[in-house]
Amino acid sequence: MSFRQQLFLSVAVLVLVPAIIASLAIGRVVRANENAKADARLDSSVRVGSVLVTQLTERAERRSALLENDRRFRLALATGRPSVIQAALGPALKRHEFVGGVVRLPGNREVRAGDQESIGIARIDVPISGGRTARLAVGFTTAEDFVGDVTDGTGVPSALLTGPGGRAVATAGAFPESGEVDVSQNPPKTTQRWRVRTLPVPSIDLARPWSTVFAAEAANQDAGLATRLVLAVFVGFIVVGFAVAFVLQRALTGRIAGFLGAAERLGAGDFAAASTISTRGRGEFATLGRAFVGMARQLELRVEQLERERGRVQSSLLRLGKAFAANLDRDTLVDLVVESAVDGLTADAGRALMPGPGGEPQTRGSVGSVLDSWDALGEAERRALASGGSASVTIAGHHAIAEPMQVERGDGPLGVISVARSRPFEPDERELLRYLTDQAAVSLRNVGRHEDVARESITDELTGLFNRRRFDDVLASAAARATPDEPIALVMLDLDRFKVINDTHGHPFGDTVLKAVAKVVKEAARDRDLPARYGGEELAVVLAVGDTEAARAFAERLREGIEALQFGDEATGPIPVTASLGVASLPSDGEDVGDLVRAADEALYRAKRAGRNRVEAATPAQGPAGEVR
Ligand code: GH3
Ligand code: MG
Ligand code: MG
Repeated sequence: MSFRQQLFLSVAVLVLVPAIIASLAIGRVVRANENAKADARLDSSVRVGSVLVTQLTERAERRSALLENDRRFRLALATGRPSVIQAALGPALKRHEFVGGVVRLPGNREVRAGDQESIGIARIDVPISGGRTARLAVGFTTAEDFVGDVTDGTGVPSALLTGPGGRAVATAGAFPESGEVDVSQNPPKTTQRWRVRTLPVPSIDLARPWSTVFAAEAANQDAGLATRLVLAVFVGFIVVGFAVAFVLQRALTGRIAGFLGAAERLGAGDFAAASTISTRGRGEFATLGRAFVGMARQLELRVEQLERERGRVQSSLLRLGKAFAANLDRDTLVDLVVESAVDGLTADAGRALMPGPGGEPQTRGSVGSVLDSWDALGEAERRALASGGSASVTIAGHHAIAEPMQVERGDGPLGVISVARSRPFEPDERELLRYLTDQAAVSLRNVGRHEDVARESITDELTGLFNRRRFDDVLASAAARATPDEPIALVMLDLDRFKVINDTHGHPFGDTVLKAVAKVVKEAARDRDLPARYGGEELAVVLAVGDTEAARAFAERLREGIEALQFGDEATGPIPVTASLGVASLPSDGEDVGDLVRAADEALYRAKRAGRNRVEAATPAQGPAGEVR
């Protein structure tokens, strides 16, 4: 059942029940009133009727004296013969204005004349022949006249004069049907609708008096009025009730419809809908309205927040995408992690602590107001490094958390990420930082591996020197730049009798020797020089800036260094290791790389032939006399 129907029903019940009760009560009162009025009228009718009967009787008795003294009538009576009396009776009654009469003679003989149903009776006894007595009863008025006078005189609407056994003698007014008033009973039986009174009336027939029955319609006599009144009250109640129900229902459902419409608009994302709801007043609807408006405001704030979050997620995604596109070098990666941590945790500042080239910690990728929370960040980093796990500190109102970047718990950290803000961090935020640093650690390890692979591809595995490919590349570009003012030089080195060493002491020992020699070369070379493994046990060094003399001096240092190496144990005794070296330079010894390598190679060959463990230059050094030294 809808709200509207419930409301209507309840109001209808509230109105209908009292309306019915009130109608019944009014009906009862009206009916009682009508009964009382009818009874009073009937009682007064009976009184008036009885006075009328008395008056008629007195008048009849006065006139009966004249009849008694009527000579002609007395003569007729005196005969005692019924036929004679019969002939005299009618005229005598007329002379004295009686309407009917009866003479009872001795021997139960009767003589009648005129109206035998007359009213207003006088009785006289007249002596007749033989000392006997005749009894006379005469009526002064007709039954019709009597009931007419009774109704006229009393105002009773209907009257009925009845004879023995309820026989109707005369009626006045509209007397009720015999079904409604049964006059054969004494007193008459009536239905509720009719009220009756009876008045005994003497008749000509001495032995049996008649009755006048007065009747008045009571209960329903004015039922029309009562019914109309009750109906009017009833209809009035109903109309008022339903009008109230209608107005109430309109008012309530109108406001509810307002809420419904606003809720639907709100559901569709229209937050302005809340402004259509009234919040004024103190009623339940006003409270509901305030709650509704509050809810809408909250919803709007949440949606705005979500929009902002989405914006942040989008910019993070963009950044991540850029990072992937940038091929992820170590610095970009660290920057990215710190930025994502600061964004994701809505921190004020963040930074990374990474080992520098010498292994000492360096700050990288600072974001936000790092200086403000410097102490908190530093302390959190220190604790994270010390414990190898999460750290959380609060210093001077700055809350900082730090997390070491580790691929596996227990590994040495690759660095530490820390963030700070003025609000404390929640456990799920620390979890997020841990997740980020774990991801960053994996990525950093991968970057490291990438760098290793790249480095390996330009270095020689055994000696750690640059490989032949790298040597060729760098030599070619250096050779292209060489000028007389800024010459470049090349040193070629070949171990002496290395085959013998291998054969005598084994190939692994040969490798050890090769590594030791390479170390001597690496340490002697400056940063910008390019020490490389040219092939087999042949090494080469490009001196980025240097002429033949500089190269010769450098080569001599190498030769001495190698000669000074000590190999062998007690079993083998000392194993001497030496090398022969050739040097050349550009542009003195040629025009291009090919000339340079050839010149250095030839110098090396000369050194071998000259007895090994020595240095030869492509261009012999010029002494003061200009001769070859
Ligand atoms: P020479 O003084 O004339 O140079 O005599 P040599 O025996 O050194 O002659 P050569 O330079 O022709 O010999 C090269 C030898 O170096 C051959 C090879 O067994 C050895 N060798 C080359 N590369 C390696 C290496 O990587 N490890 C070891 N153990 N031996 C190597
Ligand atoms: Mg060789
Ligand atoms: Mg050799």
